[in-house]
Amino acid sequence: MNPLTSQIAVVTGAARGVGEATARKLASLGAHVVLVARDSQRLNEVRQQIESAGGKATVLPCDLTDTAAVASLGEQIARDYRRCDILVNNAGIGLDNKPLHEVTPEEWDQLFNTNLRGPYLMIRALAPLMIAARTGHIVNISSLAGRNPLPNNAAYAATKWGLNGLTYSIAEELRQYNIRVSAVAPGSINTKFGDGGSGSAHNSKKDPNKMLQPEDIAAVVATLVTQPPQSFISEVLMRPTQKP
Ligand code: NAP
Repeated sequence: MNPLTSQIAVVTGAARGVGEATARKLASLGAHVVLVARDSQRLNEVRQQIESAGGKATVLPCDLTDTAAVASLGEQIARDYRRCDILVNNAGIGLDNKPLHEVTPEEWDQLFNTNLRGPYLMIRALAPLMIAARTGHIVNISSLAGRNPLPNNAAYAATKWGLNGLTYSIAEELRQYNIRVSAVAPGSINTKFGDGGSGSAHNSKKDPNKMLQPEDIAAVVATLVTQPPQSFISEVLMRPTQKP
């Protein structure tokens, strides 16, 4: 039997990149995957591909910066499935390289609202289901930029340093309920990350063949959520083997 059969896995940012690869991977292990992002057309394409491969998926479009929309997403999942076994907080955005004093307050807010407040709102919406079930996994996709200084992208780095602090803290809050909360912190990944998917400002000068691939991160998420009950991998740092 597949290890995630009968489990509900919610993946944010599932429209492309790491989220799409993670959704496909968890579906291949038997989970019913709830696909979350803003682009419903792209989400439906991912759902069709998962279903064609014999998996189960549902599309729930949502803008994670919208407080009410995330709350109603949580209510819908509670109503339709009555459980949430896995939450992967993957959706995230970047910003063109520039010194912090050139970052506008609007850009700052959009970054923090997506990369840090979004995971908070998702946890607020779904952790109660996990607490009630006394089981669950939350995986937050952070970055090596949340471990290191990132000159000319300080605001992005700050969102990921913040996400790490949130992750380590709620891991302790939720441990008593048998819920494991992990951070995955990759280096450069071969995706369209950067300008909302329109092109990669972030990675544009790097060799895509040397970068991590989205499937590499998906494989790590799968490892985290299929650990035996006594084993909790709290953090994974991932680097491309050769510098891209
Ligand atoms: P990506 O290809 O640009 O995908 C980002 C995903 O997030 C898309 O599905 C996008 O879908 C969704 N998203 C963005 N804003 C959203 C919002 N307001 N509400 C809902 N969904 C939203 O990026 P990626 O490379 O896969 O990045 C995934 C994660 O890995 C991010 O957290 C990123 O910080 C992290 N990471 C990336 C790299 C890298 O080099 N690529 C390195 C380290 C860490 P819609 O636009 O349809 O909403």
